[in-house]
Amino acid sequence: MYDIIVIGAGIAGSYTAREFARLGHSVAVLEKHPEPGHKTSCTGIISQACLDMLPGSHRVIQREARSATIVSPAGNHIRIERETTQAYILDRAALDRLVAEQAGKIGVDYFFSALATGLQSDDRGVYVKATQGSRPLELSARACVIACGTAPGLIRQVGLGRIREYAYGAQAEVTCKNIDEVEVYSGRQIAPGFFAWLVPTLPGKAKAGLLSKSNPGPAIADFLKYLEGQGKIPPASPDISFGSIPLKPLTKTYANRILVVGDAAGQTKPTTGGGIYFSLICAGIAVRTLDESLKAGDLSTRHLALYQKRWHKILKHELDIDYWAHRFYRGLTDKQSEHIFQVILRHGIHESLLTSPDITFDWHSKVILDAIRHRSLQRSLVKFKLFPPPA
Ligand SMILES: Cc1cc2nc3c(=O)[nH]c(=O)nc-3n(C[C@H](O)[C@H](O)[C@H](O)COP(=O)(O)OP(=O)(O)OC[C@H]3O[C@@H](n4cnc5c(N)ncnc54)[C@H](O)[C@@H]3O)c2cc1C
Repeated sequence: MYDIIVIGAGIAGSYTAREFARLGHSVAVLEKHPEPGHKTSCTGIISQACLDMLPGSHRVIQREARSATIVSPAGNHIRIERETTQAYILDRAALDRLVAEQAGKIGVDYFFSALATGLQSDDRGVYVKATQGSRPLELSARACVIACGTAPGLIRQVGLGRIREYAYGAQAEVTCKNIDEVEVYSGRQIAPGFFAWLVPTLPGKAKAGLLSKSNPGPAIADFLKYLEGQGKIPPASPDISFGSIPLKPLTKTYANRILVVGDAAGQTKPTTGGGIYFSLICAGIAVRTLDESLKAGDLSTRHLALYQKRWHKILKHELDIDYWAHRFYRGLTDKQSEHIFQVILRHGIHESLLTSPDITFDWHSKVILDAIRHRSLQRSLVKFKLFPPPA
């Protein structure tokens, strides 16, 4: 019997496994794919704070970013730039391999091509059924961490319900010319309710992707054609990978001997879809809570509720405000977005926000609240009946 079984060798799963093993626990990881990071659609953009949580990850950096251009629905530009590096663009598959390798080196047992299909718990332990290739595999442990991304089956099986809202993403690796900074495109024609991106990676290469509330297949094909038309990428039919992003967290992220982390728990920013940093924060809390519970010999639902209390204390308000901002943005027509874009540009709101200590790559709630306090922005929101008039 292992101390912990982790289901999923994504970033949340392998980070959790590695940190448990460092505390001296025996850990097994089940991963349905033959290797970590298999066919990921993640762009791999993270902050310095996130990079600092991932020792060795400098080896998988493809590019540093300190500026970005945001393109409005009508094709106008806002350029934001800071003097220091604001984000790192990583090879996400290589990152997952790196963390799994680190975990393996300190004794974590990995089972690849092992799809977990059943999960049960009782007073004595947790029992996981899986198929590895064509062979059945059964493992037991004192506790289990579900880190299986947006696959909902196991979570429903253990009675934790389901995440109620997702966005759907698509991304292609493209060759490109003269793209030196991140480009973000808004507008219903390109990415209804969300945004699209062109992110330079290695010299002459970029990731082109978008998020959508419905099937992103047709939208990504149109976006690639648009980039071709703009002369940014040559005509090609690149491989497209797809993935989903939870927009709201799971209501309950703990059960008897079980915790849920990462995308599986919906610990993802609804503003940008970024989930790596918050997944790591929550994985750290899961490790601490389970370690204490293992030592106390109490892995009951009541005792593990502490995990959710702890991560909610750090992230819940942030996720709520981000979700509100996302819903607000999603409801805008192109005309309204363009008007707001023009107000931001005319009044230099982006410049004043850029100098604010509240603006960080990972935490958006303060800057969202600062932005809607700007009188000129409030006036235009009132004009469109999007905001109550200031008192
Ligand atoms: C298009 C797109 C772009 C993104 N860009 C960014 C970005 O730039 N920055 C950022 O921070 N975030 C980004 N994200 C979000 C980020 O990818 C996720 O938040 C992050 O991957 C969550 O990690 P995870 O370990 O929880 O889940 P995952 O990375 O999805 O890992 C889950 C793992 O579990 C395995 N698994 C699933 N079910 C089972 C099972 N039953 N048995 C065994 N194994 C199983 C899967 O194969 C997978 O390896 C993006 C997402 C998308 C869709």
